[in-house]
Amino acid sequence: MAQKIIIVGAGIIGASAAWHLARAGADVTVIDAGADRATDASFGWVNASYFANADHFRLRAAGMQAWQTLLAALGVQPLAQGSLAWDQPEDGLHRQYATLKDLDYPVEWISKDQFSKLEPGVARPPDAALFFPSEQVIDAADCATRMLAQSGASVVRGVRVDALSPGKVHTAFGTLCADDIVVAAGTQTQRLIAGLGADLCLRPSPTFVLHTQPARRVSRHVLATPVGDIRQRSDGVFVMPTDVNHQSDHGDAAGTRLDTLQADAMGRLTSLFPDLGLTSAGLTLAHRPMPCDGVPIVGAVCTGVYAAVMHSGVTLAALMGDLISQEVMRGATNQTIDWLAPYRPDRFAVT
Ligand SMILES: Cc1cc2nc3c(=O)[nH]c(=O)nc-3n(C[C@H](O)[C@H](O)[C@H](O)COP(=O)(O)OP(=O)(O)OC[C@H]3O[C@@H](n4cnc5c(N)ncnc54)[C@H](O)[C@@H]3O)c2cc1C
Repeated sequence: MAQKIIIVGAGIIGASAAWHLARAGADVTVIDAGADRATDASFGWVNASYFANADHFRLRAAGMQAWQTLLAALGVQPLAQGSLAWDQPEDGLHRQYATLKDLDYPVEWISKDQFSKLEPGVARPPDAALFFPSEQVIDAADCATRMLAQSGASVVRGVRVDALSPGKVHTAFGTLCADDIVVAAGTQTQRLIAGLGADLCLRPSPTFVLHTQPARRVSRHVLATPVGDIRQRSDGVFVMPTDVNHQSDHGDAAGTRLDTLQADAMGRLTSLFPDLGLTSAGLTLAHRPMPCDGVPIVGAVCTGVYAAVMHSGVTLAALMGDLISQEVMRGATNQTIDWLAPYRPDRFAVT
């Protein structure tokens, strides 16, 4: 009999877990409430140029690598290739460059002229920037949909999981039984896990994402700029989280007026592209699943229940789906422990 696994959550993490588990021979059901998904609003930047520590860098770099295989299997092209960063003063860029060079990460120091050749549309190009040629943007929502469709998993949408107990998933439509449960419910993971008596710590990290009306296509890289992270889609729409440095992951200040937020973000975007006549198409509020210490939470919380919640979940999804699948099917191995030891849920246990 195939191992029966229920995954709570059809975002990029649940979808990748489903894809890998189904390929490994499990009988997989995914249940999704259809609530707000971080995946739908994600900026989609797959990178390892920002990281918390050496382990986290290694994880992110492996996450980038894992996407190469998964994108090929899904038959998907990245939306953009390469990113340019000048989001900090030049001495900070120098330090980041030296650190990443030491780590053998693909990074180039580029001059103003080189920058202008790569991004001719940016007004007032910086004197220097870092170029990360191997970084990509993927359409996270599309990849999640494809993974679920191609996995052969059974997907139930519009049903909320109210509670969990070992081997059981409780919904308004009855209780489903499974050999193992994977909770990949984004910001809701903490609440579901708390019902099992386990502690996780997520902190609120709301941000708005600005979309413009389509404009002439001038930009083809991710731009990590002093005024925010920006990319232009192939249809000409610019996308920009409204918090200036979304890598800092603190989110927008609650209480800030929507019209002020929108005008401020448009002002910053327009300062880089003043000749495009950009107009806003609106804001979308998104909640990032942000562990309190900023790094992923992945592992068993009790017998038969496994949790996976993280920011930078797009960067990490291809690798995480594989590691989750290995641990849920066969238990922790030396290889999975090597990757996941720093990220276990029990670091939040109240003693
Ligand atoms: C604005 C923004 C920009 C970002 N930029 C980047 C980036 O550039 N690079 C990067 O790597 N990461 C980025 N991230 C983070 C990344 O998008 C997330 O880490 C990732 O999408 C999380 O995926 P997930 O599957 O864990 O959660 P989600 O996408 O939130 O999915 C969770 C799913 O669980 C379901 N669910 C919740 N509760 C229940 C329940 N009780 N019952 C049933 N279903 C339930 C929800 O309906 C949802 O579909 C960004 C996030 C945001 C919001």
